[in-house]
Parts: sequence; structure tokens; C-alpha cells
Amino acid sequence: MNERVKPVYLEEKLEEIRADGHQEYRSKSLPTWCPGCGYFSMAEGLTVALNRLEIPFKDVVTVSGIGCASRFPFFVSTYGFHTLHGRVLPVATGVKIGNDDLTVIAVGGDGDAFAIGGGHIPHAARRNVDMTYLVFDNGIYGLTKGQTSPTSALGFKTSSTPYENGDVPLNPLMMLLSYGASWVGQAYAGHPHHLADMITQAISHRGFSFLRILSPCVTFDKTNNTYANLNVNVRDLPEDHDTSDLMAAMAQAQHNDHPALGVYFEHDRATLGQVMGATSKRAGGD
Ligand code: SF4
Ligand code: MG
Repeated sequence: MNERVKPVYLEEKLEEIRADGHQEYRSKSLPTWCPGCGYFSMAEGLTVALNRLEIPFKDVVTVSGIGCASRFPFFVSTYGFHTLHGRVLPVATGVKIGNDDLTVIAVGGDGDAFAIGGGHIPHAARRNVDMTYLVFDNGIYGLTKGQTSPTSALGFKTSSTPYENGDVPLNPLMMLLSYGASWVGQAYAGHPHHLADMITQAISHRGFSFLRILSPCVTFDKTNNTYANLNVNVRDLPEDHDTSDLMAAMAQAQHNDHPALGVYFEHDRATLGQVMGATSKRAGGD
């Protein structure tokens, strides 16, 4: 057995979560992810969060783009929409505009989000669309068998950069903070309980919440150390971190090489639905 192909999180932690009876939101479709992929703890994290928040099935829509992470809607018992590569946010925005009472969860990986879909993120963030965007960042294109992605580390070797990646990786947290996202956080697939807490907080936020979830690709990350590509040398945000301080959030977000987990920034402001409602009233609507 390839030494790299082993669980990146403790299976017993997931068993604990399952033992709590948090299964109602899992669909009967078994995930097709590789054994040990961090996406399993994300599926558990989302189902735990939906159980905690007691949101009825009929009120939840999970929308995804294309990629390993984007298979997500098949594995949860919510309404779902598996859309086109990079187009998760426009579709999710349309769903939310169609019915502002829905809880909309957008899901994707780093390639889907920051390459082909990168142009959609600033607009969903600045408009403060009331949805949660979960980006599963493994710094690689997993579904297409392991090419360098926009968040791959410098020096990373893949089939598309066999002589090492020479491109500086994007910093997703800095981007989202700059774009005006009203809730920005970071979690790690190897810490499933914390991940479930973070997803719960992200969904609870009224406005655009962005959660970056670090999750190494255990199959196609061919570095000697599976963790090296994402430098998953995680730490907690400082206890005295002020989540209302944008500059403090940016200062923490710069440490991509030693990523901090937790809520970086949260801010309460009008959502797109509220703005549209006010505009409708001014125009003589209901
Ligand atoms: Fe997960 Fe990588 Fe397998 Fe995709 S290819 S399911 S990201 S381990
Ligand atoms: Mg990826």
C-alpha cells in the first residue's frame, strides 16, 4: 500500500460524530472520494451543522461546480445542483434571489473557485449574498489526476509542472477579506469537530460567509509529505484576535505558510436580499 494513501484525520473522531446520531442529512449515495480524502470529514461536518441548526431538508440547497469536492450534492439529502465548472456562485446567487428563505450552501475546490470561477467571487462577496461558500482547498486539481492549481505551493511538482511550480500561490483569505466578504474563516479537514463548529458558524452568519477548508489530496499529491503542498502546519488564531478588525484579519491571513484556524472576520451589513427588497419597495413593489 502506498504510504501516502492513509487517512489524514482520526477515523475514531468521525465515529464519535456518527455515534451522536447525526446522519439524517447524509444521502444513500456513498461518496466516491478516495479512502483518506479529507472531504469525508467535510460531509460529516456539514451534516452535523445542519442537524445542530435544525434546518428542514426542504429549506436547504447545496450547489456545486466541477471537481472532486463538487460531487458533494450527491452525498447529502438536501436539494442539490451540480452546475458547470466555476459557475457555482452565479447559480447559487440565482437560487437565493429566487427564494430568500432558503439556506444556500455553495461548494467547490480550489481550481473551481480560484481559476475558472475566480471572477465570480468578488461580486458574490461585495453584494453580501446570504449564502455559505465552502472551498475545499487541497492545492491541486484532484479530479483530473493531479495538476498544479492556483493555490499550489511554489516548487510543487505535478504532471503539469514537472520541473516545479514557479507561480506564487493565491492567498484565498486575503482575497475574500479584500472583496468585502462579511464572514471569513479557516478550518482543516484533520480537525473534524472544529470543522463542524466552523461550518455551523458560517451558516449561522447572515450574509456571505466564506470558509476555506484545508484538505490534502492523499492520492495525487506526490510530495514526500502529503502535508507539504498546503503546508498544513496549522495553529489556532490568537485568543485575543478581534473578529471585527479587518486589518488584524489580514495580518493573520498573510501567514499562509503557518495557517491559523478560526473566524478571521465577521461583520453585519445588509444582504443582497435586503437591498433588493428595499429597492423593490422604492419602485412600488411589495
Ligand atoms: Fe480526494 Fe484527491 Fe481523491 Fe479527489 S483525487 S477524492 S481530492 S484524495
Ligand atoms: Mg483542488
